[in-house]
Amino acid sequence: MPNYCLVLGCAATLSFTAGLAAQPAPAAKPAIPAHSIEVAPNAAGSPHVEKEAAPKTPAPPKEPAITFNSVHVDGPYIAMTFDDGPSATLTPKLLDLLAAHHIKATFFVIGENVAEHPEIVARAAREGHEIASHSWSHPNLAKMSQESVRSQLQRTDDAIKSATGKSPTLLRPPYGSITEREKRWIHDEFGYDIILWDVDPLDWKRPGPAVVRNRILKETRSGSIVLSHDIHPGTIEAMPSTFDELEAKGFKFVTVSELIDMATPVTPPPKAQAVEKTAVKVVPPAAPASSPSG
Ligand SMILES: [Zn+2]
Repeated sequence: MPNYCLVLGCAATLSFTAGLAAQPAPAAKPAIPAHSIEVAPNAAGSPHVEKEAAPKTPAPPKEPAITFNSVHVDGPYIAMTFDDGPSATLTPKLLDLLAAHHIKATFFVIGENVAEHPEIVARAAREGHEIASHSWSHPNLAKMSQESVRSQLQRTDDAIKSATGKSPTLLRPPYGSITEREKRWIHDEFGYDIILWDVDPLDWKRPGPAVVRNRILKETRSGSIVLSHDIHPGTIEAMPSTFDELEAKGFKFVTVSELIDMATPVTPPPKAQAVEKTAVKVVPPAAPASSPSG
């Protein structure tokens, strides 16, 4: 069942890596600050619109953001997210771990897996975790017709609602791949926010539990959205010590929707307007912060 994700993930990453290599320096993580600014809420508490959608006049009224790589928050709050499940064997193990640590996480589930194991999704929801959409069969949404994307999302929405009694409010596009136009109509039609990530341990490459843990510990900051996959044994093995270490650093775990609800204003630095516009323009339209693992 999960094999296609692994294969496609590899393929997508290879092409994306080539794209990154072609970009000018700085190659480190140029997208993260831009996205952090992009999703910053205004003083009234409602998030900013993406800059390319804003009028050209200064200080325009802001519409809510719909895309998040991370969230600007005042406390040490982070969101752990797990994609591509549920897995019949690994997701229940993860749920046990989360319960033992009193951690609430967000699961971006694949619709066809939900249809296969609705009881696991129901348990996750019952235990306080957020259930969100990751499409029906993990295709590259950016390369699909609107009609096909709509079908992928509607079937998944139906499966999640059937399993949990509640429709999802978040979508993570597979590989983080989605067009600006798709973001807009999906948000208008389904009401979904588009959730990417700022911490990616590349666990789908199965580098071993210690590497997964160390990457997460190194990259996670307040407001981070941490990407992992609950279909790989090494990821689940990494989690007990990852949770322990994150807790030792003082982080507190919330769902993605809770994290977004906590968003606080970013104090703009001098010339913030120009910086924001420039930063947003260099963000590849269909690319997440680091890689298309999602
Ligand atoms: Zn995925």
